[in-house]
Amino acid sequence: MKIKHIDHIGIAVNKIAQAGKFYTDILGLTIAGIENVADQKVNVAFIPITDSEVELVESTHEDGPVAKYIASRGEGIQHIAFRVENIEEALEELKQKGVRLIDQTPRHGAGGAKIAFIHPKETNGVLVELCERE
Ligand code: ZN
Repeated sequence: MKIKHIDHIGIAVNKIAQAGKFYTDILGLTIAGIENVADQKVNVAFIPITDSEVELVESTHEDGPVAKYIASRGEGIQHIAFRVENIEEALEELKQKGVRLIDQTPRHGAGGAKIAFIHPKETNGVLVELCERE
C-alpha cells in the first residue's frame, strides 16, 4: 500500500466551540468548516495545516463512541489518520497480512473521505485510520 502522508489527527473534545479557541486565537489557525457525521454521532471541525489537519471531534449524543471515549479516557488525541492512495487495496493487503481491522470495508468519513480503522490491538494502542480522498 502507498501511505502518502498524515491526513489528520483526531482529537476528542467536549466542545468544539471551547477547544477550537486554542487553535484559532492562540495558534492563529483557521477552522475551515464543521461537519456533522450522523452515523458516528459527532461534529468534526477541520483545522488545516499544510497537507494535514487537526480534526476536533465532539460527540452529539451521550451514547456516541466519542462520548464513551472521553468518559473512559478523557479529552485528547483519539486517532491518527494516514492518507492512502487506494483504501480498498490497503485493506486487502492488511487482511492478507493478518491484521485485525475494525472496518472490513471502507465507510464514509468527514470531508467526503473513505475511511477505515485498524484495531488498536495491532498498533500498540494507537487507533489508526486509513483515509482516501479525491
Ligand atoms: Zn479521522
